[in-house]
Amino acid sequence: MKDKISTTVREIVPSVIREMSLRAMAYDSVISLGIGEPDFDTPAEICREALQDALAGHTHYTPSRGDEELVEALLEYIKKNRKIELSHAQLTVTHGGMGGLIAGLRAILDPGEEVILIEPHFPSYRAQVIFAGGTPVLAATSFQDRFVVRPERVARAISPRTKAIIINSPNNPTGCVIPGDVLDELARIAVQNDLMVISDEVYDRLIFEGPGESIFTRPGMAERTMVVNSFSKAFAMTGWRIGYCYGPEWLINEVMKVATYFTSCPSNVGQRAALAALRTDREQFERMAQEFKDRCTFAYDRLREMPGVKVHPPSGSFYLFPNLEKVTDDTTQFALGLLDREQIVVIPGDAFGPSGKPCIRISCTVERDLLGKALDRIERFLDSYGERSS
Ligand code: PLP
Repeated sequence: MKDKISTTVREIVPSVIREMSLRAMAYDSVISLGIGEPDFDTPAEICREALQDALAGHTHYTPSRGDEELVEALLEYIKKNRKIELSHAQLTVTHGGMGGLIAGLRAILDPGEEVILIEPHFPSYRAQVIFAGGTPVLAATSFQDRFVVRPERVARAISPRTKAIIINSPNNPTGCVIPGDVLDELARIAVQNDLMVISDEVYDRLIFEGPGESIFTRPGMAERTMVVNSFSKAFAMTGWRIGYCYGPEWLINEVMKVATYFTSCPSNVGQRAALAALRTDREQFERMAQEFKDRCTFAYDRLREMPGVKVHPPSGSFYLFPNLEKVTDDTTQFALGLLDREQIVVIPGDAFGPSGKPCIRISCTVERDLLGKALDRIERFLDSYGERSS
């Protein structure tokens, strides 16, 4: 009966991240550094507010754009935090960041049009471009460049069929933050070639140095950029499934049309929780961001002392992406062995694109004691592997 499934869907393989987590269920003292979600629960006051709102009747469909109070609060939040002033018609609430990405891609792509993905990249981009009828085209980065994209590589990937570029800063899986001058150059390329940009900024509150910059603010970009953001990572709200996106009104209208036909509206009670998150004391989220930074620094300091491991200091997100080329040329086998022998989950780097092949992704999403234990076990496993002679 498998032939009843569309070829497009059949050809997309399940996510390696989920696969690793499923495998891990067979073991009993696993420490997972595999999944990209904050280990913090959503603060209780946010849950209470959402519950009260549900009891008060926020249990119906909301307008397609989103709960009116949430839309207003988001416009204020973006003005204050990103210094971007938007009209009401330029923003819509979505079903997580994922909802914005897929609706945005579906809204802009005609069959066969190409979307440039800077790799290593969040694996869902590839599947989403394909599901939206497009063709992903990769622009590689390298460990030597700290995974900062060279704009000329993006320029070289452009063809007459290119419709858009997806950029992601801070990046999942590398933690790379794209510097301002590179954003300037990417913007120039997008304008010159009349391309759309989808800027995935879901980790924007997890930048370790300086303020986060957005390509949206570059000359000529407000009319061709859709910013995707989410409550998942910054507010420890992955399970509520609330995100938002903004861009030019003509685009957001179509994104809303797609999202409405697909899902009607995001969860009402989830949106009330998001509203509560925007109204609550910001300090707790700043503490959370600081904790991710401290854990990443701690893990970086440990990893760089391990034989055969090369790693860059973290710039944002909660990921580290150490390079193990001196240890193995097969990081998938390495990750499987590490799970089997030491019960640690990490994600092999080629799950995120060919440039990630020598690397593994480590999510610093367990508390520090546990992270320390996980790193001890990684070190022990590395010792048993030995350094490859090169
Ligand atoms: N974008 C990136 C880069 C991510 O890493 C994720 C989740 O891991 C998402 C988007 C989707 O986040 P959500 O749909 O939970 O908002």
